[in-house]
Amino acid sequence: MRGIKYLLVITVLLLALAFVLTTFVFKKDGGSEETVSETVSSAESETTAEPEKKEDENIDNAWAMFLVNKKNPLPLDYDSRIETKVIFESWREYYLDVRAAEYFEKMLDAAKEDGIDLLVVSAYRTIEYQQQNFDRSVQDRVDKGMSYDDAYADTLAEVALPGESEHNAGLALDIMSQDYTSMEDDGFENTEAFAWLDKHAAEYGFILRYPKGKQEITGIIYEPWHYRFVGVYYANEIKESGLCLEEYYEKNGWLDSDDKATDMLGPVKEEKPAETAVPENTEPKETMPTTPYSEQKATIIV
Ligand SMILES: [Zn+2]
Repeated sequence: MRGIKYLLVITVLLLALAFVLTTFVFKKDGGSEETVSETVSSAESETTAEPEKKEDENIDNAWAMFLVNKKNPLPLDYDSRIETKVIFESWREYYLDVRAAEYFEKMLDAAKEDGIDLLVVSAYRTIEYQQQNFDRSVQDRVDKGMSYDDAYADTLAEVALPGESEHNAGLALDIMSQDYTSMEDDGFENTEAFAWLDKHAAEYGFILRYPKGKQEITGIIYEPWHYRFVGVYYANEIKESGLCLEEYYEKNGWLDSDDKATDMLGPVKEEKPAETAVPENTEPKETMPTTPYSEQKATIIV
């Protein structure tokens, strides 16, 4: 009996010892596994943090790619956000956003070398001017006996509201040639200047903004003279696609169901300090020229 008791006690002790040893070894293993997995996970996080998302280096002047139309007006303080410079002088001076100006100047020189004398007939217009122009058109109609409501509606069909014209963005030009300056028809498309622009404008970042057959979409008649700066990359893309700007936006999924632009580009969304802004453009507002518009042809509306 005594022998059995001792045997039981020894067995219990051995079992207890075995338990303690097993637990100890298990914990040790577990610990080393944890260490390994920690090393792995920290290595993983280092690898995932390393490659930063880079912008497409092929895209130049992405800042210039934004939509301006009835559905996508510029903010009314847009004039204070840009710096413009003289890009053409005839009987008056014409201005463009400085960032687009150098592209236009190169295009002008290249055309000249090919024997084409381009003539700028409209460029940057202040939002204030656009308002005056609009108000004057309403008043003219009222003076002719229309009710104010009718005059307003009638004007709306012909004159862009302030902020709704690309000319207000300093990125649009109406370009014609010395030998053809009529905007009463689309005869400009038969000139050598038009043919030259049609072939080369995209190389300098400009697109024909209101192409033939797109009036339903752009809301603007065919204007063989109206060019818009969007940067060289997008100008070539759009030219090759045969789409107008609104269609190009739609194709890329940059329009919501109300035809409002949803992409991140453009002045409206750029209220935070822009990292990609060209330094010269952040100069004080005093450098803004005051453009005399009083002599502007009334027919130039968009
Ligand atoms: Zn125009």
